[in-house]
Amino acid sequence: MSHPNAYKGPAVTAAAGENLGAALALANQHGTMVIVGSSASVGVGGFLTGGGQSLLSSQKGLAADAVLELSVVLPSGKVITANACEHPDIFWAIRGGGGSTLGVVLNFTFKAFPSEPVSSLQFVFESPTLNEDKFWQAVTFMATQFPMLANAGVTTFAGIAPGNSASPAIFSGVFQGTNQSAAQTAAVIQPLADHLNSSYGADIRSQITDVQEYASYHDWFRAQQSEAPTPLGVDLAFASRILDEKALNHPNFTALIRKAAAAGVAFNGVAGPGTHAYPSDFNVVTPAWRTGYVHASVFIIACESEGETPADGYLVVATLWPPFNATAKALAIETLTNDTSAALRELAPDTGSYLNEASAYEPNFQQAFWGSNYPRLLGIKKALDPRDVFWCQACAGSERWEEIDGVLCRV
Ligand SMILES: Cc1cc2nc3c(=O)[nH]c(=O)nc-3n(C[C@H](O)[C@H](O)[C@H](O)COP(=O)(O)OP(=O)(O)OC[C@H]3O[C@@H](n4cnc5c(N)ncnc54)[C@H](O)[C@@H]3O)c2cc1C
Repeated sequence: MSHPNAYKGPAVTAAAGENLGAALALANQHGTMVIVGSSASVGVGGFLTGGGQSLLSSQKGLAADAVLELSVVLPSGKVITANACEHPDIFWAIRGGGGSTLGVVLNFTFKAFPSEPVSSLQFVFESPTLNEDKFWQAVTFMATQFPMLANAGVTTFAGIAPGNSASPAIFSGVFQGTNQSAAQTAAVIQPLADHLNSSYGADIRSQITDVQEYASYHDWFRAQQSEAPTPLGVDLAFASRILDEKALNHPNFTALIRKAAAAGVAFNGVAGPGTHAYPSDFNVVTPAWRTGYVHASVFIIACESEGETPADGYLVVATLWPPFNATAKALAIETLTNDTSAALRELAPDTGSYLNEASAYEPNFQQAFWGSNYPRLLGIKKALDPRDVFWCQACAGSERWEEIDGVLCRV
């Protein structure tokens, strides 16, 4: 890995309050692309300070890996520029150390990559006979294929929704081939579809639909964005785990993923050669990105009205609770922490959790969010912010305070 300052290619400088859609649009005007996630409305500030995973990550790395320089207002009020040569510790820690922790970033400069065409298809399987056991066996087979997919340049936002006595469980994903024709991507997925259709009799049916080619990642991104604004103020909580090859081949995978997906799990193939190309201490993101292939996450969300059920298309909604019902919310968080996400932790005890889509109630959050990078991150936080100007729940250094009845008290 060459020194980051040895980089001579194109780059984008964006104000931290800018959104990802604008950064990608700007890069696209210059024949390049930048690592952005699933939604145009996500802000550069939170995305880059948390890590930033994308359909491009499995081939190009995390957004935080692409950062070349940033300017930041420190807790002291001083404004500095940090890069691999100037303030390298701060530069290291902000790229994945979490927003609201080390300073207020003013802008980031990050690598842009030459634009590449992408192909995209929808791959779905389910059990038309409602045979749940066969369905979860098929999911278990599919999980083992994610390293192969990443190495073949195919990446995915996928999810598994559980079934009930009337409708089948379903595995569904948008699979994207970076710098590939649709025929090349379909040639990677078709053998999986054939395997599923031939191995389980009439109990499993898979299909590939919506095969498309786009001239650029930007074109694909525009095509899949809804025109509707992203809702604000939604009360929800995530829990996440990055799954490496060991987890994807876990002897108890079938039972554990079934438990984790009690009400749906996102199963995103967003890591691979691109995230593995960096050493585990390249920046502060969990080292799990350096060996993992799948980002699995579950989430819970307050419904808009009493008795609402997950809408069609809400594939990965785990649990709904009635709005403003603190007791129901606490119960949902307990289930998320001790049940569904506990199954993901059991599946992958040695990996970690993706900070930007993680639970604020994650047990042993220091290990889960930063792993072996945590001691250095904590040291930088203490040196930079000895009076804890910045504090947030489950953030670096937050263990020095306890929230009691809405008041922060020194531990
Ligand atoms: C619709 C949607 C889709 C998403 N898709 C993806 C995805 O595909 N990939 C992915 O990785 N993540 C995704 N996320 C998660 C997203 O990365 C996080 O929610 C991220 O924290 C959002 O950052 P923000 O700046 O938009 O939000 P904010 O709520 O403004 O900020 C998030 C945190 O970062 C801090 N922060 C923000 N700006 C700064 C700054 N300039 N300096 C210091 N701290 C700052 C804030 O204080 C806060 O703690 C998605 C989220 C949503 C809502």
